[in-house]
Amino acid sequence: VSPVSTMKSFIMTTLLPLSYAFQTGRVFQSVHTRAKVEVRGAMEMRTPFIAGNWKENPVTLQDATSLAESLKPLAGSLPCEVGIAVPYPFISAVAGVLEGTDIQVMAQSIHFEDSGAFTGAVAATMVESVGCSYSLAGHSERRSVFGDSDAVVNSKVKKILETKMGAILCIGETQGEFEAGLTNEVNAIQLSKGLSGVSAEDMSRVVIAYEPVWAIGTGLVCPSDTAQLVHESIRAQLAKLYSSEIADSVRIQYGGSVTPDSVDELMSKPDIDGCLVGGASLVAEKFGRIMNFEEA
Ligand code: PEP
Repeated sequence: VSPVSTMKSFIMTTLLPLSYAFQTGRVFQSVHTRAKVEVRGAMEMRTPFIAGNWKENPVTLQDATSLAESLKPLAGSLPCEVGIAVPYPFISAVAGVLEGTDIQVMAQSIHFEDSGAFTGAVAATMVESVGCSYSLAGHSERRSVFGDSDAVVNSKVKKILETKMGAILCIGETQGEFEAGLTNEVNAIQLSKGLSGVSAEDMSRVVIAYEPVWAIGTGLVCPSDTAQLVHESIRAQLAKLYSSEIADSVRIQYGGSVTPDSVDELMSKPDIDGCLVGGASLVAEKFGRIMNFEEA
């Protein structure tokens, strides 16, 4: 066996898989976390990801920093990656409070232009420069209240990925679409439009959040078995758009009225890799329990 072929085989079998694992977030810094993650089995080496979305809350800087302070003691040794999407004016202060913890700070949205005469807009580089490691794109409230179309959502995803941040692309059907049995079709369309032009390489920084619109802020949690089926269908669509390897590596969060009572069962499903949490992320004890989920 020549030294060249030994080196080639070392690169193919050891270095490349290792570097891919780091890029896809499969390797997370804490050994404790990794041990818990591995319990999910070989097929599910996706690091679970619990994200909070504070939306337009709390209403003062003081309330925001004290909410962040109260999360710190609950973030000891987490079984997952955690981030909270904070209103723009509070990002720097909350990042300061959470420095040294495993809780990351994220943005709730960004504008798709780099800079210029866009009053009220906030660029991806701006939120990255004040400490965000992810930004959401396509949250249903952005789509319905602010009119973000699939094309706008796609521009935002691509703009986020031009930075070093990760993008959490939110998709999900309305109640009417759910009742009409169109869930998988709607998600497939939002997924392919939202990811249009996103390279296979950049998919290592993309997280999908499946959020049935009828479950957001309503107290109605999608039954975990149903959510699992939808996640499977989203993963199948990712395989069609990219490859089965990429589909297996992308994390798919569930969002919609997640609470401490529902998180364990949701997280026990093989294709549910995390949760995006609105209301419950504003109550430290609730979010603390959710980020310390125990698979049912
Ligand atoms: C959300 O804002 O993404 C969300 C899922 O909200 P809630 O948990 O309140 O339903």
